Amino acid sequence: MNIDFSKNTDGLIPAIIQDSETKNVLMLGYMNAEAYQKTLETNKVTFYSRTKKRLWTKGEESGNFLNLIAIKNDCDNDTLLIHVKPEGPTCHKGTDTCWGEENKADYGFITKLENTISTRREKADSEKSYVASLFELGINKIAQKVGEEAIEVVIEAKDENDDLFLSESADLLFHYLILLQAKGYKMDDVVKVLKSRQK
Ligand code: AMP
Ligand code: ZN
Ligand code: ZN
Ligand code: ZN
Repeated sequence: MNIDFSKNTDGLIPAIIQDSETKNVLMLGYMNAEAYQKTLETNKVTFYSRTKKRLWTKGEESGNFLNLIAIKNDCDNDTLLIHVKPEGPTCHKGTDTCWGEENKADYGFITKLENTISTRREKADSEKSYVASLFELGINKIAQKVGEEAIEVVIEAKDENDDLFLSESADLLFHYLILLQAKGYKMDDVVKVLKSRQK
């Protein structure tokens, strides 16, 4: 790879460390040519530490290594994006990321919807909130509702009307997310099962 280590007079370029699965940014470090070479040879991310003034393999004391998955060069070859599988919390302060965040999976809008469902369940008025009223009916009724929505999807799948099919699909997914939470789970628990099945 053609990396330009000469742009900065100290020969260091920034390396953004991103979890290859969750896509969360874990930390930022600096690399010189030697650190980059060592990273490739060992498959453990190695930086040049400006504080220690030497090569620093992240995890050398803590054991929280960053296992190399892939390295990408940016548009003008002066910043690296490094995909890793972290062995433990990346920050020396004990958090998963250096910004104090948890390195958990984020399914974008679905995760936002899950959070809305969970707050409705905790504090909403069941007279005003449909979600809260479903939780009040209990698991059996919620499961039954999922079944009904599934049948509606089956019916619309046979039809030519794609708007109806998508609308019923949204109903099914929405009620399924509620059933998952009623059982104490979230989308991520199902995704983990799916991932465990991959060969
Ligand atoms: P480690 O590389 O995890 O064995 O940690 C060794 C030392 O490196 C720590 O005691 C900190 O001084 C420093 N360190 C570890 N992780 C980070 C980090 N994410 N950002 C900055 N410094 C770190
Ligand atoms: Zn650049
Ligand atoms: Zn940190
Ligand atoms: Zn429906």
